[in-house]
Amino acid sequence: MIRSIRFRLYLVFGVLTALILMVAVFEAGGTRDIGRTIDRLSGNSIDSIQSLARIGKLAADIRVADGRAILGDTVDLQNQALEEARTRASRFQREVGRYARLMANEQETLLYQTLITRADGFAAAQSDFERQFVEAYGSPIAWYRHEGRQVYDQTQGAIEALIEENDRRAEWDVANARVKRQNLSLLAGTMLGATLLLALTAVLYVGARIIEPLARLTMAMRRLAQADWTTEVPATDRPDEVGEMARAIQAFRRQGMAGEQATEALRELNADLERLAMVDPLTGVANRRYFYQRAGIEIGAAHRRHSPLGCLMLDIDFFKSVNDAHGHAAGDQVLKRVAETISIGIRPYDLLGRLGGEEFAVLLPDADPATAAMIAERLRLAISASPALVDGVAVPVTVSIGLSTLAPEDAAIDPLLDRADRALYEAKHTGRDRIIGPGCPRPAALASG
Ligand code: GH3
Ligand code: MG
Ligand code: MG
Repeated sequence: MIRSIRFRLYLVFGVLTALILMVAVFEAGGTRDIGRTIDRLSGNSIDSIQSLARIGKLAADIRVADGRAILGDTVDLQNQALEEARTRASRFQREVGRYARLMANEQETLLYQTLITRADGFAAAQSDFERQFVEAYGSPIAWYRHEGRQVYDQTQGAIEALIEENDRRAEWDVANARVKRQNLSLLAGTMLGATLLLALTAVLYVGARIIEPLARLTMAMRRLAQADWTTEVPATDRPDEVGEMARAIQAFRRQGMAGEQATEALRELNADLERLAMVDPLTGVANRRYFYQRAGIEIGAAHRRHSPLGCLMLDIDFFKSVNDAHGHAAGDQVLKRVAETISIGIRPYDLLGRLGGEEFAVLLPDADPATAAMIAERLRLAISASPALVDGVAVPVTVSIGLSTLAPEDAAIDPLLDRADRALYEAKHTGRDRIIGPGCPRPAALASG
């Protein structure tokens, strides 16, 4: 399955989608988180600033009431101021508690507890104030300077520590949010980078492993469609869909090649049949049928051009006795030998045919009677000079030849062959191994007879 391109592509696009979704979710989550931090920072600081302001004002009020209690003109006024200072001290205590609840942070709780303890101590000192004041009756100012101020200074110090802590905490929150933001950006950037890299790899993969091989396969297919079976099919060893396609094309190529071979064989067979229809199988020269067909064409051409046409009829002398003496196979050898000798002795545009048995005919275009006689004589001499070799033994052979030439009234080969046949008959009867026909010297036997 992992080898399938479809599966690989689905996998890559799935991973890409997941990465993009993750980036989106992280971004949204991080933004929400930062928003919450900002909300908390701004809300807390407003509340805590208001609370601290109240604490500070209460501390100042207490100090004023204390001063009035010490320095009051009458004891009634002093007691009234003392009562007021006590009320304000308990309010101060409540305010500190509120502030502590606002800063619901574990580390800071410790600090606020200290602050509350101090506030408690301060309230205790206030309740004890009356007694202390009476004890130091002789010099209340001196007492205030030595005992009371110390308590106020402690309270003041606690308030300053609170303010400082509040600032420090805000700074820490901001720095923390900044680091978070940076980490988030880094993560989102890395994920986006990975996504882009994966997308690029996918594009390159599709280009190099799919588009390119497909283009090459298309090229191969196009050449195969033009019956160029030598075309090599690429990528047939690949295990994926492209490989399957390549192997299908390869199979197509094999079938095409087989078809081509079958067609070629058929073509050869047809050519053989055609040749067999025209050629005498023993001697390889034109058979009777083909000789007649070609002769018709040659006669028409000769009439059109008003040119002469010679016709020879050749018959092997005493051929029967060759068969009888040496056997039929030897006779065949002689037949082949004679056909070969005639073929060599005539011109390329002359036509030789085997009309049957040991009888040959030769058509000589443009040959007047004298030329035809000359060619016939040359053939006669060549045949008698070329005995066939049968089992290493030379079998001498001669031919008798009847010659005729085209007359204006000859519309086909038959009258021409008839005249040549009659001349051949005459040649046989005047001693064989000779030529009879127009343009040939009369044999002595007949000339004298
Ligand atoms: P002539 O000089 O009068 O022509 O005598 P001849 O013996 O050649 O006369 P004939 O025409 O009587 O004999 C022809 C012989 O040719 C008869 C036949 O057996 C033989 N023959 C015909 N065709 C073939 C062939 O294809 N092969 C062989 N070996 N012999 C053939
Ligand atoms: Mg014969
Ligand atoms: Mg014969």
